[in-house]
Amino acid sequence: MSAEDLPETQRPRRGILFLLSGPAGSGKSTLLRRALNEDNNLAFSISCTTRSPREGETDGKHYHFLSDEEFSEKIENNEFLEHAKVHNWRYGTLAKTVIDLLDDGKDVIMDIDVQGADQVRDSENSVISDTLVDIFLTTADTAELEKRLLGRGSEDEDTFQLRMRTAVAEIKRWRDYTYCIVSGEHDEDFRALSSIISTERLRVSRMMS
Ligand code: 5GP
Repeated sequence: MSAEDLPETQRPRRGILFLLSGPAGSGKSTLLRRALNEDNNLAFSISCTTRSPREGETDGKHYHFLSDEEFSEKIENNEFLEHAKVHNWRYGTLAKTVIDLLDDGKDVIMDIDVQGADQVRDSENSVISDTLVDIFLTTADTAELEKRLLGRGSEDEDTFQLRMRTAVAEIKRWRDYTYCIVSGEHDEDFRALSSIISTERLRVSRMMS
């Protein structure tokens, strides 16, 4: 057998783009934090937003916090891979940052809503379409979601109702994703996400790209 017949499994490969969507209250942030803490080859795609930072959030780490004008300028300059309005604020993913990370062989995980996910799926950039793995995180039913959102206790009634309405509409989109995790205990969710990540990394097609 010649050397060329051996699989080139150690060859550097392009990264994988893990897209995670799910309604507020599904446990997305906790799950993401853990995945990023425990996996050194996973980079978080830092979104831009026009909302203000919450307590404990840092500019450039959790989000790039932008003014409305700055956000519009980035739209005009075609800098976004996708952007959408969620709960009255604007959110967007910078295309160059994600593509550079993927080209460097880093796996990227992005936390974006269902409107943004539609745009990423429609991307004509082959770096995006060849590497995309979309995952939906949801709760078993809306009663569980309501319980979790109420459990946060940090929101006024109007904000709660708005989040609940958005969440109910978002949940209906689960079929559009390749994977769906029905959220249970934190450990179960983490195991499910880790299995998806590990499985996708083992695809032969990725070792050849
Ligand atoms: P929050 O303001 O609670 O951090 O996020 C609110 C919603 O915005 C979440 O559903 C989150 O997935 C979504 N989101 C965060 N960043 C982006 C982004 O870059 N693009 C889109 N389309 N949605 C985002």
